[in-house]
Amino acid sequence: MAEECEVMNGFRLAQRSCFLRINLDTVLSNLDVVRQRIGHNTGIIAVVKGNAYGHGSVMLSRFLELRAGITCFAVGTASEGVELREGGVKADVIILGVSSCFEIPTIRAHRLIPSISCLKFLKEWVKHHNDGGHSSNNGLIKSHVGKVVVGVDTGMRTSGCSIEDLPAVMQLCERHEVPVHSLMTHFVDSWEDLQLTRDQLHAFLEAVQPYRSRGVPVQAANTCSVFNGIAAELDFIRVGVAMYGQPLDSSLASVEVSEAAGLRPALSMYACATKVIELRAGQSIGYNRGYTCQHDGETFAILSFGFADGFSRCFRTGHVRTLQGTICPIVGRVSMDTTTVKISSKSETIFCVMSHDYSDVNSSATLAKLGNTTTTETIIRLSKRLPRLYLFNGQMFDIDTGLSKLFTD
Ligand SMILES: *Cc1c(COP(=O)(O)O)cnc(C)c1O
Repeated sequence: MAEECEVMNGFRLAQRSCFLRINLDTVLSNLDVVRQRIGHNTGIIAVVKGNAYGHGSVMLSRFLELRAGITCFAVGTASEGVELREGGVKADVIILGVSSCFEIPTIRAHRLIPSISCLKFLKEWVKHHNDGGHSSNNGLIKSHVGKVVVGVDTGMRTSGCSIEDLPAVMQLCERHEVPVHSLMTHFVDSWEDLQLTRDQLHAFLEAVQPYRSRGVPVQAANTCSVFNGIAAELDFIRVGVAMYGQPLDSSLASVEVSEAAGLRPALSMYACATKVIELRAGQSIGYNRGYTCQHDGETFAILSFGFADGFSRCFRTGHVRTLQGTICPIVGRVSMDTTTVKISSKSETIFCVMSHDYSDVNSSATLAKLGNTTTTETIIRLSKRLPRLYLFNGQMFDIDTGLSKLFTD
């Protein structure tokens, strides 16, 4: 009953018949689980790319900055970093994706930290500073070149400088007084191929040793390597999925490991019927007669979300659960704005579409399996059109109220 009240309150707050609920208390407890597995002096870089894996990057980052002492965030593109700055995030923001020279003005203007993957970009970074610094300071004050992270490729091949190029990159940084936030590498497969991961770590530590001994911080671990105890005690770890409580390696197989570790999904989704209809045998419902009734009196609840909200059409073989626990099948086509559920009673009108446990009926892992993809892809696709509500200290807020609440409590 309490849950029903909360969910009804959610529809009113969201002013829509469906919403995503992000439990910030769960995010904090997931971070505590992570902290138990890393070094005492290891800093956490919160990975908030892909709209914080669908959780809403501005709210998540502001919250983590204020309530979890996070001082460094990571995004995928300059534009994602701009969104954080415009949302009021003050902390360091690293761009993990490989940036092009086209993005340099944006990166500089918003004090973002690019990760260097080649000498060419670094030269442009320095050059842009020397050109731009002049006009903005009338040539009187020499401003510092913006901070960078230097990536080292140890096998991923898609990002980072080669180990051979690293000395030249570091020399250029030194010569132009470019502050190096840290040196990083990224693992190819830290879930199944742990030997490869250890080899990558070894090559990385060897390559960065001359700079590390002079005090440049180093970082390599993502969620999986932290939970496998690899590179979890360097200067920073970068964590995404564990913080959100999603399966560790983004597959169904790791659900049990996540649960046993004490993680829980922070994200869940609810929807209520916007229309209920009873049909006769032979009548069909939805595009292309997606479902045809076998009997008189079959009853359906129309839910007003669809693939424009990020739900794959593969969801047509999925299930939702009523708050009382009844499992109802999705039937017919998932269209842009509509999903249809077959119900056994007209009183079944409020549904949990995605659960905040690892239950096999309607978890993100089950949705991922239906869509033949990973859990991360499934949640990142949840579109910005879906309202997001935040649960904190047992109370639910929309982002505006949530933000002002955070800063007045
Ligand atoms: C996305 C990303 C991460 C976060 O990985 P999780 O598995 O979600 O913890 C870490 N490092 C880099 C370079 C990334 O691109």
